[in-house]
Amino acid sequence: MFIKDLVFECYQNTHYTAIERAINNYLDMLRYNGQILGREFPIAMQKSVFSTRLVCPESNSLASCFNSPQVEKALNQLTEAGLLSPKIKNVAEDLNSLACAPNFKPAWQLLYTTFLDTCSPLRCGETLNPIPLYRSTEAISNGDRKALIKWQEEWINCDELQMNGSAVSAQLLLEIGDINSRLYNIGRRLCQRVEKITNVPTYYYLYRVAGISLQKEQDRKCPNCAKEWRLESPLFDIFDFKCDTCQLVSNLSWDFKK
Ligand SMILES: [Zn+2]
Repeated sequence: MFIKDLVFECYQNTHYTAIERAINNYLDMLRYNGQILGREFPIAMQKSVFSTRLVCPESNSLASCFNSPQVEKALNQLTEAGLLSPKIKNVAEDLNSLACAPNFKPAWQLLYTTFLDTCSPLRCGETLNPIPLYRSTEAISNGDRKALIKWQEEWINCDELQMNGSAVSAQLLLEIGDINSRLYNIGRRLCQRVEKITNVPTYYYLYRVAGISLQKEQDRKCPNCAKEWRLESPLFDIFDFKCDTCQLVSNLSWDFKK
């Protein structure tokens, strides 16, 4: 991941609120296309110059060839608000985040996230490293990749709340771990869409915690086809189960994992 400074300069007298709205909208549209990561972006104002610091998946994530129609529109709105095109300054590589997958067309990939993640929820099946969302040749829906970002936000919210022992933990666990949940249905459809665009088999991760005993958890079958799906050894120390028919992966219940 790469840290960049974006600098916006006013070319005419304008209102602060118009500028603030245009810059925030531009950042949102970049985020919904996977070109920048994270959710909060401080904006510094120094006289007529505004700047913000961003993290991008790749050094060229902000290249216009990756822009969605929404990003292009937001760029026009910056001009309308009285700002010049943003100047991009490369700061450095981010030591704190995962590097992108070495290959954006692996043998398989999966939709996977955790409450700690800011990176793309599309992960390479060979390395588990993230694959930037804007790299798909087609948009996911409505011109960009917002549907995947929204799925990820919801997943992370559920995970965070259940980790904190929320009053609705049981329901939240179903959302991230059960194939009869709403979030599963959304995620599964997104996997199908991603697979269609990329031609790479795209799996879905089911979270698993609790359970009665280690033995029972080890004997767990695929929740969709009820067949054997246990792997001989865990993948990336996370996934103990994988069903190639249903394109699902899961972990041995975290309560019983060493
Ligand atoms: Zn199955």
